[in-house]
Order: sequence, then C-alpha cells, then structure tokens
Amino acid sequence: MSETIFTKIINREIPADILYEDDLALAFSDINPQAPVHFLVIPKKAIATINDITEDDREVVGHLYVVAAKIAKEKGFADDGYRVVMNCGENSGQTVFHIHLHVLAGKPLGWPPY
Ligand code: 5GP
Repeated sequence: MSETIFTKIINREIPADILYEDDLALAFSDINPQAPVHFLVIPKKAIATINDITEDDREVVGHLYVVAAKIAKEKGFADDGYRVVMNCGENSGQTVFHIHLHVLAGKPLGWPPY
C-alpha cells in the first residue's frame, strides 16, 4: 500500500507528540483534537483499513487496545470513561488510510455520533 502521513510519523520524518512506542505500536496526540484528550494508537505495520486486517494481524490489532488502556490508566482518565473508535472507509469519515484507534476522553461524550 502507499505510504501515509502516519508512516512518516513512525519514521520520525515529521514531528508528532508521541505518547507511547513499542515494537508493534505507536501512540501520539491527534493534530486536530475533538475532545480534551484525543490521541491515536496505530500499528507500525501499515494496514489501510479494517477491511484489510487478516488473521495474521490478530496480535497487533488486539495490542492497540492494550496500549489505549495502558495510556488511559497512566494519564488518569481510565476510571472516568473514554471512547475508542476506528473509522473504516468513506462513510465513516476515514481520512488516513493506515488503521488507527481514536482515543477520546476528558468530558462526557455525545452518542450517537450523527
Ligand atoms: P480518520 O478521519 O482517518 O479516522 O482520522 C485521522 C486523524 O488523523 C484525524 O483525527 C486527524 O486530525 C489526524 N491527523 C491527520 N494528519 C495528522 C498529522 O500529521 N499528525 C497528527 N498528529 N494527526 C494527524
């Protein structure tokens, strides 16, 4: 697949406010936050959309949630609650075709997301 801006962030070719990194994943603040806390958790493996996830990706995709919860606990908002969302394709509003969890927190969040 073609390289996205997130590959450039992984490779430190463009700057980001990096919150966490390990062999499989990277987390960084969203450049256009939609809540008081808004960060993204991405796999280092470039997977374009949820539709491109394969059985081989089970570990890495599950790991994204482990990282999200770890950061939530470290930042102290885990017990208050938060939202984790992954958009897929045009109708969802996905704009960067490298899968990513949005982690949103810091206030009561509206639902449903019309
Ligand atoms: P999507 O709409 O694909 O689910 O979400 C993409 C997210 O990536 C958006 O919330 C957008 O603000 C964020 N984003 C896009 N480009 C950059 C960037 O260069 N740096 C950071 N930190 N976030 C970005």
